Amino acid sequence: MIYPTYEQKHVPLTDPAAVREVFREGYENGRAACEYGTAASYIPELAKADAAAFGLYAWKKDGEVIDLGDTTTRFSIQSISKVINLAVALKFIGFRETFSHVLMEPTGDAFNSILKLDLVENRPFNPMINAGAIQVMSLLEPEFSFEELLEFARAICLDDGIELNESVYRSEAETGDRNRAIAWLLKSKEVMKGDPDRITDLYFKMCSLNVSAKSLAGLGLVLACEGTNPFTGKHLIAPGYVRTIKSVMFTCGLYDESGEFGVKVGLPAKSGVGGGIVCAVKGPMGIGTYGPALDAKGNSIGGITALEHIAHRLRLHVFDYT
Ligand code: GLN
Repeated sequence: MIYPTYEQKHVPLTDPAAVREVFREGYENGRAACEYGTAASYIPELAKADAAAFGLYAWKKDGEVIDLGDTTTRFSIQSISKVINLAVALKFIGFRETFSHVLMEPTGDAFNSILKLDLVENRPFNPMINAGAIQVMSLLEPEFSFEELLEFARAICLDDGIELNESVYRSEAETGDRNRAIAWLLKSKEVMKGDPDRITDLYFKMCSLNVSAKSLAGLGLVLACEGTNPFTGKHLIAPGYVRTIKSVMFTCGLYDESGEFGVKVGLPAKSGVGGGIVCAVKGPMGIGTYGPALDAKGNSIGGITALEHIAHRLRLHVFDYT
Protein backbone atom coordinates (compact mmCIF):
# COMPACT_ATOMS: atom_id res chain seq x y z
CA MET A 1 0.00 0.00 0.00
CA ILE A 2 1.14 3.52 -0.74
CA TYR A 3 -0.07 5.55 2.23
CA PRO A 4 -0.54 9.29 1.82
CA THR A 5 1.73 11.18 4.15
CA TYR A 6 1.42 14.81 4.99
CA GLU A 7 5.06 15.41 4.05
CA GLN A 8 4.30 14.54 0.43
CA LYS A 9 4.00 17.56 -1.83
CA HIS A 10 0.70 17.79 -3.58
CA VAL A 11 0.45 17.07 -7.28
CA PRO A 12 -0.97 19.95 -9.37
CA LEU A 13 -3.92 19.14 -11.63
CA THR A 14 -1.97 20.81 -14.44
CA ASP A 15 0.50 17.88 -14.58
CA PRO A 16 -1.50 15.13 -16.35
CA ALA A 17 1.17 12.41 -16.10
CA ALA A 18 1.60 12.96 -12.35
CA VAL A 19 -2.18 13.06 -11.87
CA ARG A 20 -2.51 9.71 -13.66
CA GLU A 21 0.14 8.27 -11.36
CA VAL A 22 -1.80 9.45 -8.29
CA PHE A 23 -4.95 7.77 -9.63
CA ARG A 24 -2.99 4.58 -10.26
CA GLU A 25 -1.71 4.62 -6.66
CA GLY A 26 -5.24 5.29 -5.40
CA TYR A 27 -6.52 2.40 -7.48
CA GLU A 28 -3.82 0.04 -6.13
CA ASN A 29 -4.61 1.08 -2.55
CA GLY A 30 -8.32 0.61 -3.13
CA ARG A 31 -7.87 -2.81 -4.70
CA ALA A 32 -5.64 -3.94 -1.82
CA ALA A 33 -8.18 -2.74 0.77
CA CYS A 34 -11.00 -4.86 -0.67
CA GLU A 35 -9.83 -7.89 1.29
CA TYR A 36 -10.94 -6.15 4.51
CA GLY A 37 -14.59 -5.88 3.44
CA THR A 38 -17.48 -8.14 2.44
CA ALA A 39 -20.25 -7.88 -0.15
CA ALA A 40 -23.73 -6.99 1.16
CA SER A 41 -25.87 -10.04 1.82
CA TYR A 42 -29.13 -8.67 3.25
CA ILE A 43 -30.31 -8.38 -0.35
CA PRO A 44 -29.45 -11.97 -1.38
CA GLU A 45 -28.66 -11.13 -5.00
CA LEU A 46 -25.91 -8.70 -3.92
CA ALA A 47 -23.99 -11.46 -2.12
CA LYS A 48 -23.12 -12.94 -5.54
CA ALA A 49 -20.78 -10.00 -6.33
CA ASP A 50 -17.03 -10.61 -6.57
CA ALA A 51 -15.73 -8.95 -3.38
CA ALA A 52 -12.23 -8.68 -4.88
CA ALA A 53 -13.41 -6.65 -7.88
CA PHE A 54 -12.32 -3.03 -8.00
CA GLY A 55 -12.54 -0.29 -10.61
CA LEU A 56 -11.94 3.44 -10.76
CA TYR A 57 -13.04 5.79 -13.53
CA ALA A 58 -12.34 9.52 -13.70
CA TRP A 59 -13.94 11.64 -16.40
CA LYS A 60 -13.03 15.24 -17.10
CA LYS A 61 -15.01 17.98 -18.79
CA ASP A 62 -12.59 18.01 -21.75
CA GLY A 63 -13.32 14.30 -22.31
CA GLU A 64 -10.08 12.99 -20.83
CA VAL A 65 -10.57 9.76 -18.87
CA ILE A 66 -8.57 7.66 -16.43
CA ASP A 67 -9.87 4.11 -16.58
CA LEU A 68 -8.44 1.59 -14.10
CA GLY A 69 -9.55 -1.96 -13.35
CA ASP A 70 -13.13 -3.13 -13.34
CA THR A 71 -15.00 -0.17 -14.82
CA THR A 72 -17.38 -1.92 -17.24
CA THR A 73 -19.03 -4.47 -14.93
CA ARG A 74 -22.68 -3.58 -14.37
CA PHE A 75 -23.86 -3.56 -10.75
CA SER A 76 -26.90 -2.12 -9.01
CA ILE A 77 -26.79 1.57 -8.19
CA GLN A 78 -28.60 1.06 -4.84
CA SER A 79 -28.51 4.17 -2.64
CA ILE A 80 -26.81 6.30 -5.29
CA SER A 81 -30.26 6.44 -6.93
CA LYS A 82 -31.21 8.68 -4.00
CA VAL A 83 -29.17 11.45 -5.66
CA ILE A 84 -31.11 11.01 -8.90
CA ASN A 85 -34.46 10.94 -7.12
CA LEU A 86 -33.58 14.12 -5.22
CA ALA A 87 -32.49 15.77 -8.48
CA VAL A 88 -35.87 14.95 -10.07
CA ALA A 89 -37.74 16.20 -7.01
CA LEU A 90 -35.85 19.50 -6.94
CA LYS A 91 -36.18 20.02 -10.69
CA PHE A 92 -39.88 19.31 -10.97
CA ILE A 93 -41.28 19.90 -7.48
CA GLY A 94 -38.90 22.59 -6.25
CA PHE A 95 -36.72 23.23 -3.23
CA ARG A 96 -39.36 24.55 -0.85
CA GLU A 97 -41.90 21.80 -1.48
CA THR A 98 -39.33 18.98 -1.41
CA PHE A 99 -37.77 20.14 1.84
CA SER A 100 -41.14 20.61 3.47
CA HIS A 101 -41.42 16.79 3.40
CA VAL A 102 -37.86 15.82 4.34
CA LEU A 103 -35.15 17.53 6.42
CA MET A 104 -31.50 18.16 5.51
CA GLU A 105 -29.73 16.92 8.66
CA PRO A 106 -27.27 14.04 8.97
CA THR A 107 -28.46 11.34 11.37
CA GLY A 108 -25.35 9.53 12.58
CA ASP A 109 -27.52 6.41 12.30
CA ALA A 110 -27.44 3.49 9.88
CA PHE A 111 -28.99 4.07 6.44
CA ASN A 112 -32.03 1.92 7.19
CA SER A 113 -32.59 3.15 10.75
CA ILE A 114 -36.07 3.95 11.97
CA LEU A 115 -34.98 5.39 15.34
CA LYS A 116 -35.00 9.16 14.80
CA LEU A 117 -38.04 8.89 12.59
CA ASP A 118 -40.09 7.53 15.42
CA LEU A 119 -38.50 9.25 18.41
CA VAL A 120 -37.21 12.65 17.27
CA GLU A 121 -39.03 14.00 14.18
CA ASN A 122 -41.86 12.70 12.07
CA ARG A 123 -40.21 13.81 8.86
CA PRO A 124 -37.16 11.83 7.72
CA PHE A 125 -33.85 13.49 8.51
CA ASN A 126 -32.42 13.66 4.99
CA PRO A 127 -32.96 12.34 1.43
CA MET A 128 -29.80 10.15 1.47
CA ILE A 129 -31.10 7.63 4.02
CA ASN A 130 -33.79 5.09 3.19
CA ALA A 131 -36.60 6.88 5.07
CA GLY A 132 -35.83 10.17 3.34
CA ALA A 133 -35.47 8.61 -0.09
CA ILE A 134 -38.75 6.74 0.31
CA GLN A 135 -40.43 9.99 1.36
CA VAL A 136 -38.94 11.75 -1.70
CA MET A 137 -40.20 8.85 -3.82
CA SER A 138 -43.72 9.45 -2.48
CA LEU A 139 -43.54 12.91 -4.08
CA LEU A 140 -42.40 11.46 -7.42
CA GLU A 141 -44.59 8.36 -7.64
CA PRO A 142 -47.84 10.15 -8.62
CA GLU A 143 -46.01 12.25 -11.23
CA PHE A 144 -43.48 9.97 -12.91
CA SER A 145 -43.41 6.48 -14.38
CA PHE A 146 -40.41 4.23 -13.87
CA GLU A 147 -39.54 4.73 -17.56
CA GLU A 148 -39.42 8.51 -17.11
CA LEU A 149 -37.14 8.22 -14.07
CA LEU A 150 -34.95 5.75 -15.99
CA GLU A 151 -34.68 8.21 -18.86
CA PHE A 152 -33.53 10.96 -16.47
CA ALA A 153 -31.03 8.54 -14.84
CA ARG A 154 -29.55 7.74 -18.27
CA ALA A 155 -29.21 11.43 -19.11
CA ILE A 156 -27.64 12.50 -15.82
CA CYS A 157 -25.21 9.52 -15.76
CA LEU A 158 -24.24 10.06 -19.43
CA ASP A 159 -25.07 6.40 -20.02
CA ASP A 160 -27.83 5.22 -22.36
CA GLY A 161 -27.05 1.62 -21.43
CA ILE A 162 -28.59 1.80 -17.93
CA GLU A 163 -31.33 -0.83 -17.51
CA LEU A 164 -33.31 -2.38 -14.69
CA ASN A 165 -31.50 -5.37 -13.15
CA GLU A 166 -34.51 -7.66 -12.86
CA SER A 167 -32.95 -10.21 -10.51
CA VAL A 168 -31.72 -7.53 -8.05
CA TYR A 169 -35.15 -5.88 -8.21
CA ARG A 170 -36.93 -9.18 -7.43
CA SER A 171 -34.47 -10.00 -4.65
CA GLU A 172 -34.92 -6.57 -3.14
CA ALA A 173 -38.71 -6.60 -3.44
CA GLU A 174 -38.87 -10.04 -1.80
CA THR A 175 -36.71 -9.05 1.16
CA GLY A 176 -37.56 -5.34 1.52
CA ASP A 177 -39.82 -5.58 4.56
CA ARG A 178 -37.84 -3.03 6.53
CA ASN A 179 -38.25 -0.46 3.76
CA ARG A 180 -41.96 -1.26 3.54
CA ALA A 181 -42.12 -0.82 7.33
CA ILE A 182 -40.51 2.62 6.98
CA ALA A 183 -43.06 3.58 4.32
CA TRP A 184 -46.02 2.39 6.39
CA LEU A 185 -44.64 4.21 9.46
CA LEU A 186 -44.46 7.43 7.42
CA LYS A 187 -48.00 6.78 6.22
CA SER A 188 -49.24 6.18 9.77
CA LYS A 189 -47.78 9.53 10.82
CA GLU A 190 -49.56 11.16 7.85
CA VAL A 191 -46.20 12.43 6.66
CA MET A 192 -46.44 10.29 3.54
CA LYS A 193 -49.34 10.48 1.13
CA GLY A 194 -50.07 7.76 -1.40
CA ASP A 195 -49.78 4.00 -1.49
CA PRO A 196 -46.70 2.76 0.47
CA ASP A 197 -46.48 -0.44 -1.60
CA ARG A 198 -46.43 1.36 -4.94
CA ILE A 199 -43.94 3.91 -3.57
CA THR A 200 -41.53 1.29 -2.21
CA ASP A 201 -41.84 -0.66 -5.46
CA LEU A 202 -40.63 2.36 -7.44
CA TYR A 203 -37.89 2.94 -4.83
CA PHE A 204 -36.73 -0.71 -5.26
CA LYS A 205 -36.71 -0.32 -9.04
CA MET A 206 -34.55 2.80 -8.89
CA CYS A 207 -32.15 1.01 -6.50
CA SER A 208 -31.89 -1.82 -9.05
CA LEU A 209 -30.60 0.20 -11.99
CA ASN A 210 -27.53 -1.38 -13.51
CA VAL A 211 -24.64 1.09 -13.67
CA SER A 212 -20.86 0.86 -14.02
CA ALA A 213 -18.01 2.86 -12.50
CA LYS A 214 -18.10 4.83 -15.76
CA SER A 215 -21.79 5.75 -15.36
CA LEU A 216 -21.07 6.97 -11.83
CA ALA A 217 -18.19 9.08 -13.13
CA GLY A 218 -20.69 10.52 -15.64
CA LEU A 219 -23.08 11.43 -12.82
CA GLY A 220 -20.20 12.98 -10.86
CA LEU A 221 -19.12 14.94 -13.93
CA VAL A 222 -22.59 16.40 -14.53
CA LEU A 223 -22.75 17.44 -10.86
CA ALA A 224 -19.23 18.90 -11.12
CA CYS A 225 -20.38 20.82 -14.24
CA GLU A 226 -23.24 22.40 -12.27
CA GLY A 227 -25.91 20.22 -13.85
CA THR A 228 -24.93 20.48 -17.51
CA ASN A 229 -23.87 17.65 -19.83
CA PRO A 230 -20.44 19.04 -20.82
CA PHE A 231 -20.42 17.21 -24.16
CA THR A 232 -23.79 18.38 -25.50
CA GLY A 233 -24.25 21.56 -23.46
CA LYS A 234 -27.70 20.31 -22.40
CA HIS A 235 -28.87 21.68 -19.04
CA LEU A 236 -30.24 18.83 -16.95
CA ILE A 237 -30.67 20.53 -13.59
CA ALA A 238 -30.19 24.09 -12.38
CA PRO A 239 -26.86 25.02 -10.69
CA GLY A 240 -28.62 26.09 -7.48
CA TYR A 241 -30.21 22.65 -7.14
CA VAL A 242 -26.85 21.00 -7.85
CA ARG A 243 -25.36 23.02 -5.01
CA THR A 244 -28.09 21.70 -2.73
CA ILE A 245 -27.57 18.10 -3.90
CA LYS A 246 -23.79 18.29 -3.41
CA SER A 247 -24.25 19.82 0.05
CA VAL A 248 -26.57 16.99 1.08
CA MET A 249 -24.13 14.46 -0.41
CA PHE A 250 -21.25 16.05 1.52
CA THR A 251 -23.08 15.97 4.86
CA CYS A 252 -25.12 12.77 4.47
CA GLY A 253 -23.83 10.80 1.45
CA LEU A 254 -22.01 8.04 3.33
CA TYR A 255 -24.63 7.47 6.04
CA ASP A 256 -23.07 7.31 9.50
CA GLU A 257 -19.59 7.55 7.99
CA SER A 258 -20.28 10.92 6.35
CA GLY A 259 -18.42 12.93 9.01
CA GLU A 260 -15.26 10.83 8.79
CA PHE A 261 -15.36 10.84 4.99
CA GLY A 262 -15.89 14.62 5.06
CA VAL A 263 -12.76 15.09 7.16
CA LYS A 264 -10.53 12.60 5.36
CA VAL A 265 -11.69 13.01 1.75
CA GLY A 266 -13.73 16.21 1.83
CA LEU A 267 -15.73 15.78 -1.36
CA PRO A 268 -19.45 15.48 -2.14
CA ALA A 269 -19.98 11.75 -2.65
CA LYS A 270 -22.67 9.10 -2.42
CA SER A 271 -22.28 5.40 -1.80
CA GLY A 272 -24.50 2.39 -2.43
CA VAL A 273 -24.47 -1.14 -1.02
CA GLY A 274 -23.95 -2.47 -4.55
CA GLY A 275 -20.36 -1.23 -4.12
CA GLY A 276 -20.48 2.06 -6.01
CA ILE A 277 -19.37 5.54 -4.98
CA VAL A 278 -19.93 8.69 -7.03
CA CYS A 279 -17.86 11.77 -6.38
CA ALA A 280 -17.96 15.29 -7.87
CA VAL A 281 -14.63 17.09 -8.03
CA LYS A 282 -13.24 20.45 -9.10
CA GLY A 283 -11.59 20.43 -12.49
CA PRO A 284 -14.44 19.76 -13.28
CA MET A 285 -14.21 16.01 -12.99
CA GLY A 286 -16.42 13.10 -11.96
CA ILE A 287 -15.07 9.99 -10.26
CA GLY A 288 -16.90 6.67 -10.08
CA THR A 289 -15.63 3.66 -8.14
CA TYR A 290 -16.83 0.08 -7.98
CA GLY A 291 -15.83 -2.26 -5.16
CA PRO A 292 -18.52 -4.48 -3.65
CA ALA A 293 -16.44 -5.25 -0.55
CA LEU A 294 -18.14 -3.05 2.06
CA ASP A 295 -17.06 -1.82 5.48
CA ALA A 296 -19.21 -2.14 8.63
CA LYS A 297 -21.23 0.98 7.68
CA GLY A 298 -22.13 -0.37 4.23
CA ASN A 299 -19.69 1.75 2.23
CA SER A 300 -17.24 0.45 -0.37
CA ILE A 301 -13.94 0.01 1.44
CA GLY A 302 -11.90 0.10 -1.77
CA GLY A 303 -13.70 3.22 -2.98
CA ILE A 304 -13.11 5.13 0.24
CA THR A 305 -9.45 4.09 0.37
CA ALA A 306 -8.80 5.14 -3.22
CA LEU A 307 -10.63 8.45 -2.86
CA GLU A 308 -8.77 9.32 0.31
CA HIS A 309 -5.43 8.90 -1.42
CA ILE A 310 -6.46 10.81 -4.53
CA ALA A 311 -8.12 13.67 -2.64
CA HIS A 312 -5.09 14.07 -0.40
CA ARG A 313 -2.41 13.94 -3.09
CA LEU A 314 -4.29 16.22 -5.50
CA ARG A 315 -5.60 18.52 -2.75
CA LEU A 316 -9.18 18.04 -3.82
CA HIS A 317 -10.71 18.45 -0.35
CA VAL A 318 -13.22 21.31 -0.61
CA PHE A 319 -11.45 23.04 2.30
CA ASP A 320 -7.98 22.87 0.73
CA TYR A 321 -7.44 26.45 -0.33
CA THR A 322 -4.92 25.88 -3.11
N1 GLN B 1 -31.79 -0.75 -1.74
C1 GLN B 1 -31.03 -0.60 -0.54
C2 GLN B 1 -31.95 -0.59 0.65
O1 GLN B 1 -32.97 0.02 0.57
C3 GLN B 1 -30.23 0.64 -0.62
C4 GLN B 1 -29.38 0.86 0.59
C5 GLN B 1 -27.99 1.30 0.31
O2 GLN B 1 -27.45 1.29 -0.79
N2 GLN B 1 -27.36 1.70 1.39
O3 GLN B 1 -31.70 -1.16 1.66
